[in-house]
Amino acid sequence: MTKTYSNLIDGELVTTAGTMDVINPATEEVVGQVPSAGQDELDRAVAAARRAFQSWKKTTPEERQKVVQGIAATIKENADELFRLLTSEQGKPHNQAQQEIYGAAGLAAAQSTLRLEDVINQDDDTRLSRTRRVPVGVVGGIVPWNFPIMMAIQKIVPALVAGCTIVLKPSPFTPLTTLRIAELIKDVVPAGTVNIITGPDELGPMITSHPGIDKITFTGSTATGKKIMEGASKDLKRITLELGGNDASIVLADADVEKVAEQLFWSSFSNAGQVCIAAKRIYIHEDIYDDLSKAIAAYAKTVKVGDGAQQGTGVGPIQNKKQFERVCELIQDAKDQGYQFLAGGDVDPSGTGYYVPITILDNPPEDARIVAEEQFGPVMPLMKFATVDEAIERANASEYGLAGAVWTADAEQGVAVAERMETGTVWVNEFMHLSPFAPFGGHKQSGIGAEYGIDGLKEFTYPQVITIKRDAFA
Ligand code: NAD
Repeated sequence: MTKTYSNLIDGELVTTAGTMDVINPATEEVVGQVPSAGQDELDRAVAAARRAFQSWKKTTPEERQKVVQGIAATIKENADELFRLLTSEQGKPHNQAQQEIYGAAGLAAAQSTLRLEDVINQDDDTRLSRTRRVPVGVVGGIVPWNFPIMMAIQKIVPALVAGCTIVLKPSPFTPLTTLRIAELIKDVVPAGTVNIITGPDELGPMITSHPGIDKITFTGSTATGKKIMEGASKDLKRITLELGGNDASIVLADADVEKVAEQLFWSSFSNAGQVCIAAKRIYIHEDIYDDLSKAIAAYAKTVKVGDGAQQGTGVGPIQNKKQFERVCELIQDAKDQGYQFLAGGDVDPSGTGYYVPITILDNPPEDARIVAEEQFGPVMPLMKFATVDEAIERANASEYGLAGAVWTADAEQGVAVAERMETGTVWVNEFMHLSPFAPFGGHKQSGIGAEYGIDGLKEFTYPQVITIKRDAFA
């Protein structure tokens, strides 16, 4: 018997008559059931969040910090159970699941310290003008299946820190660990401040269009992000959208081949490539292309693809069947077009589990589907370039603008290249590093607004300017 999980509404654990199965992508077995919430549960959650907002918005930053630190501590104390559960529903190897759980606890603890200070705009004999930040109200949070816990925390925590309350919807593919955390924090957070409800994709538009919700914070695909923006436009809800990416890495001629090969590999294959900020296009200078592509392919041979719960697995399965079929289709297209493979390419669709072998392509053309589209799987196209200008032009020729990286022995030159990239984040000689205190957000169709840091926190607030006319009755 698998466990049936509950939703968290108004401080109570709630079930529904109908449930949804959650599948382990490594075994295709059901690992749990979750409530299938609809309009009724959503209405109750929103009403609870509205009630709780009346008192939560009046709490001090220190009181909020204490509650958020309670969430962080609870996650940390239960990390062992949580990371195993996360692997069973998401597929990622245990060590990567552990990083996500501890990373989420660390993010919560760090962001609990953020403060939105008042700004004095004018202070003279004529006038005192001050900008303060006031919470927007009830937030609707919608998250994807690739980093369910990190994404849930990066919605819940800034909402609470800003003085908002939240109704959060996990992805139907990966709701278990979030609901287990809901059980654990039930008495850590005041009733109604954090509500977590699970349902099919159809629950998403209900949240977006709910008149009792003031702001939507969403992470997911660009296609869904556009629908959210449309839904939110009816009553001009505030929105933060963290969407898809097709991140480019540029490896300059002076990069140390042996040292960068392994890092480049993981920049693409962490979480089986299902990372919005994974390197999805790697441009390598022609002088080192042959050596570096060989070194990456050699390293790939040392990495085991398998069940994330088994020791030694480096790359787990694709999280769900639909995504598995999409990645298989892109690989098949590359084969049909006659592109060359340095590794992988042969998927066994009849086996159990959504496994795709580590797949590396050798210099496919720029307009190949596997290059131009966000693969979101364990696929890495390596491409050759001759000049830095050409590499930057090719990297920027994308509707996306999430992140990118430059690899070089000369950090100054790396920064010069980074500044020409049209993305929200650019790393020089590292990958995927996000600071709790620096804004993370996409340019172009990779999103609107930012999360993390003061910029992210501000998105849960309105500015309110209060002025006093000092010489009014002088
Ligand atoms: P998705 O857009 O299919 O789903 C995300 C969430 O939206 C799920 O909870 C889903 O149930 C819900 N949803 C679906 N249709 C909806 C609708 N019409 N209205 C409201 N909600 C709806 O995305 P996914 O497949 O779960 O995640 C993969 C995508 O997420 C990739 O494109 C990836 O790049 C992106 N992503 C972006 C970031 C980032 O920070 N920029 C981080 C992680 C993932």
